[in-house]
Amino acid sequence: MKTFVIIGAGAAGVSAIEGIRSQDPDSEIIQVFDERDGYYSRPGLAYYLTGEVSEDSLFPFQTSHFERFRVKQINTQAKRIYPFEHTVELADGSYLPYHKLLIATGAHAAPAKVPGTDLEGVVKLDNIADARRIMKHARKRHTAVIVGGGITALELVEGFKARGLHVHYFLRGNRYWSNVLDEIESHIVEQRLVEEGVQIHYQTELAEIIGNRGKVKEVLTADGRRIKCDVVGIAIGIKPRKNLAEAAGLNTIRGISVNEYLQSNDPDIFAAGDVAEVYDPIVGKAILDSLWAPARKQGYLAGLNMTGKKVLYCKGMPFNVTRLAGLTTTIIGTLGSREEDCDVVGIVRGDSEGWRYMPDALVAQSGFDVNRLRVLVGENRLLGALLMGDQTLSRAIHRLITEKVDITPIRDALLRPSRPITEIIADFWSQIADNQGNIVHATIQS
Ligand SMILES: Cc1cc2nc3c(=O)[nH]c(=O)nc-3n(C[C@H](O)[C@H](O)[C@H](O)COP(=O)(O)OP(=O)(O)OC[C@H]3O[C@@H](n4cnc5c(N)ncnc54)[C@H](O)[C@@H]3O)c2cc1C
Repeated sequence: MKTFVIIGAGAAGVSAIEGIRSQDPDSEIIQVFDERDGYYSRPGLAYYLTGEVSEDSLFPFQTSHFERFRVKQINTQAKRIYPFEHTVELADGSYLPYHKLLIATGAHAAPAKVPGTDLEGVVKLDNIADARRIMKHARKRHTAVIVGGGITALELVEGFKARGLHVHYFLRGNRYWSNVLDEIESHIVEQRLVEEGVQIHYQTELAEIIGNRGKVKEVLTADGRRIKCDVVGIAIGIKPRKNLAEAAGLNTIRGISVNEYLQSNDPDIFAAGDVAEVYDPIVGKAILDSLWAPARKQGYLAGLNMTGKKVLYCKGMPFNVTRLAGLTTTIIGTLGSREEDCDVVGIVRGDSEGWRYMPDALVAQSGFDVNRLRVLVGENRLLGALLMGDQTLSRAIHRLITEKVDITPIRDALLRPSRPITEIIADFWSQIADNQGNIVHATIQS
C-alpha cells in the first residue's frame, strides 16, 4: 500500500486529499499541519475581524469530512524532509515515510525591516490566531497605525475601525493599490475610508516602532514625524514558506519551483498553493498565484498527479472578488494597459443608472452608492474588467472574458461615450445567452 504525505491543511493541502481519493480509495493519506485550527477560510478572516461573521462559520468542514476521506491527521510541525530516504522528520523527532509527498505550506506575512517589530501591539493578519490576537488587542487599545498598500492592509484598517479604534493608514505612494486600481477607483476607496474617520498619510514610510516597557507607544516615520499609537498592523506582502524545500535541496526561486504537473525537481515531491511557483505553459513562465481558488485547483491536480495521473495545470483567467472599504469589487482578467498591444483600449465609466433589463440567471446585487465598471477591450474580445459596487453584470462579464466571446457587434458602441457600457453589455448578454446563462448565439475566439 502506498503512503501519501501532505504537509499543510490549507486550501491546497485539503484539495490534494480530494484529488488523491478520487483516484485511489485505498492508499494511506497522512496530513501534517502545524496550525492548531486546521482547515478554515483565510479570506473569511476579514469579515471575522469586523464582526460580520462568527468564528464557527470560518470552518466549512466537520471532523467527519476528513474521516470520510480516511485521512490520518497529525497536528505538529514538519521539521525536515529527507528526499533520499523518503521521510519527513516531525517536531517530536519521529520520522514519517512517504511514497509521494506534497508540500502545501502556504505563505506568511513579510516582516517589516524596521526596529521595534517585536514589541507587544505589533500585529499581522496571516491566520486565525492573528485575528484572535487583533481582537484581543483592540479591546484595550485606542489608536492603530496600519502599514501596507494592498487588500490585507485594508482589512486591518477596517477591522480596527469596526472595533472602535482611531486608525492612521500609511501609504507609501500617493494613492491606494495603484498597480491594480486606476486613480478614480483608488480615490473612491480612500474617500470612503476618510468618511469612516480613517486618517490617511500619503507618501509615508514607517521608520521605527517605539515602545515603552515592551509595548507600542508611537511610530516614527521616515520623514521624521512621530505618531502616538498603541497598535501597529503590518501588511506589506507575503513570502512563500519554502524553507523545508530549500533545506531538502529542492529547486526554489521565489517559491518552490514546480513544473506544469506541480512536481518539483524530485519526482516524488510535489508543491501546490501559495508556496508553489508554477510553470504556466500559456504564458511560458513560472508564476506565484497567492489566491484561494488557484490553491484549491493546484492542490487537487497535485493530488491527481501524485497517484500517477498526468494532468496539466493551466492557470485560469484571474478572477478575484474582494471588498474594498465596504465596496464589493470584482477583478477579472487583464487590467491596466499593455503597451505592446496598441489595439487594447481601457474604458471606464462611472454610472449611477439602474439596470433596464437583466436575464434571470444573473445574480443581482445592487443598492450601492457607487457603481463603477471598467473594461479592457481588445481587438475583438474583452480582456479584463473591474466592477466596483453593483455586481449585477459580474457573472456575464466573467463569461464574456473567459469564453473569449467575439464582441465585434458591440465594440464600436463600447468605444463611443454616448451610451453607458453597462447597458451595452447587458443588452449584448441578453441577446447571446439563454435563460440558464448558456452562451448560445455568439462567436467564440480561438
Ligand atoms: C487575511 C487574508 C485574506 C485573504 N483574502 C483572500 C481573498 O479575498 N481571496 C483570495 O482568493 N485569497 C485570499 N487570501 C489568500 C488565500 O487565503 C491563500 O491563497 C490560500 O489560503 C493559500 O492556501 P495554501 O493551502 O497554499 O496555504 P495556507 O492556507 O497558508 O495553508 C498552509 C498550511 O501549511 C501548514 N504548515 C506550514 N508550514 C508547516 C510545517 N513546517 N509543518 C506543518 N505544517 C505546516 C499550516 O499549518 C497550514 O495548514 C487571503 C489570505 C489572508 C491571510
